Amino acid sequence: MTPSPPSPSAPSWYAATANRRETWPRLAGDLTCDVCVIGGGFTGVMAALNLAERGFDTVLLEAERVGWGASGRNGGQIHSGFNRDMAEIAALVGGADAHRLWTLAEHGKAILRERIRRHAIACDLRPGLLYAALKPRHLAEITAWQRDWHESYHYPHLRQLDRDQMSAQVASPAYCGGLLDEDGGQLHPLNYALGLTTAAAQAGVRLFEGSRVTELDPGDTTRSPVATTADGRVRARWLVVATNGQHQPLASALNRMIMPVSTTLVVTEPLGAATAAALIPSDLPVCDLTFTIQYFRRTPDHRLMFGGGVNYGQRVPANPQVTGGLRLASVFPHLRGVGIEYSWSGTVAMTRNRLPHVGRLGPTTLFAHGYSGHGVALTALAGTVLAEAVAGDPERLNLLARIPHRPFPGGAWWRRPALVAAMGWYRLCDWLR
Ligand SMILES: Cc1cc2nc3c(=O)[nH]c(=O)nc-3n(C[C@H](O)[C@H](O)[C@H](O)COP(=O)(O)OP(=O)(O)OC[C@H]3O[C@@H](n4cnc5c(N)ncnc54)[C@H](O)[C@@H]3O)c2cc1C
Repeated sequence: MTPSPPSPSAPSWYAATANRRETWPRLAGDLTCDVCVIGGGFTGVMAALNLAERGFDTVLLEAERVGWGASGRNGGQIHSGFNRDMAEIAALVGGADAHRLWTLAEHGKAILRERIRRHAIACDLRPGLLYAALKPRHLAEITAWQRDWHESYHYPHLRQLDRDQMSAQVASPAYCGGLLDEDGGQLHPLNYALGLTTAAAQAGVRLFEGSRVTELDPGDTTRSPVATTADGRVRARWLVVATNGQHQPLASALNRMIMPVSTTLVVTEPLGAATAAALIPSDLPVCDLTFTIQYFRRTPDHRLMFGGGVNYGQRVPANPQVTGGLRLASVFPHLRGVGIEYSWSGTVAMTRNRLPHVGRLGPTTLFAHGYSGHGVALTALAGTVLAEAVAGDPERLNLLARIPHRPFPGGAWWRRPALVAAMGWYRLCDWLR
């Protein structure tokens, strides 16, 4: 049987505005190398780049095209910390490890910016991220959040905004206040992924696209790991699994730890410079504080990009243009009926505690996934830490691996219905509280 060619990039505004991309061959035949990385998203490419720079002969296998997954489709928002309150993290892992994890997350943002600068990646990196409060409960959360980050972690970049200050940033009647993270940010995620990939290739990584790994042997103390595709096989001293929760049938031990959640983005027709600027005068990306989050930003070509509406179990809305347009109109009522020119969905890998899941599948097989919607910065960290561990310094990987994780309940049959019910509960909470 002839394998089908890799899918093109997801048909998104990002794909339509992507920098020139190279095409990498399909794996054909058997190879040996020091490290085989599975998955060509931010995690895998960052790991491969670091490994090649450290002198490892590195092969990267991507099922579709580099940046085809969440890394080429996301909201492009650079969050600080994790998708969980630091106070809750401290309760989970203890105060000392919480401080170490905080330092790691901050380092993730620094690595991201340094890589973009060093490799001159044209990905429209800009500082600042706004969190929007819809109700008094959110204002109380923001106050506690700012106090905790300031007092416990000496983070000076958060600024609380009252209703008037918020409406000077975002022209929506929906918000009663907000929180500005001056050290958050935004970028064009696909162009960042493509730029990192060029850097990885220049550092010597051997890249293969259209090369889905169908079988994975994580090896043991006597056998090296092996990754098998339709047309070839890679035997390596080390394996790095960076498939973002898409492990079937690779590693069932990992599947139970991740709930794939689909979310949709839409991009309007061009609104004109003045109209777009009037919507978000600050030109900052915005993320609201509901459980089922909505996030949006202006694009450089004067459109509005709007995302949200998470669906547990990869259920994609039948008509994303319409549902996305309606959600957008709930924030900017005067945009009701605006033309939607792009819509696409992507899968966020959620863990139960919304913290990354990083660790080992075998003595020389490592994995990292489950950034739970905070992956733009945390993948820069994870890719770096995975490479450090391969190079003999596993201290930071071990810190991440100490985060306790539990599988999603319910087994194969009940897991999805249980999570759909949970999602209904969160929607109700957003509505009632
Ligand atoms: C719609 C959306 C919006 C988001 N918004 C934000 C945001 O604003 N800010 C933020 O911080 N995070 C956001 N995220 C999350 C963020 O995008 C991810 O955490 C991050 O991109 C994960 O990167 P990754 O490399 O681990 O996974 P991915 O980018 O998904 O890469 C995994 C790759 O592995 C490949 N693969 C899978 N199986 C195989 C196999 N068997 N063999 C070979 N290759 C395989 C896939 O094709 C894919 O390219 C969002 C995610 C989505 C989907």
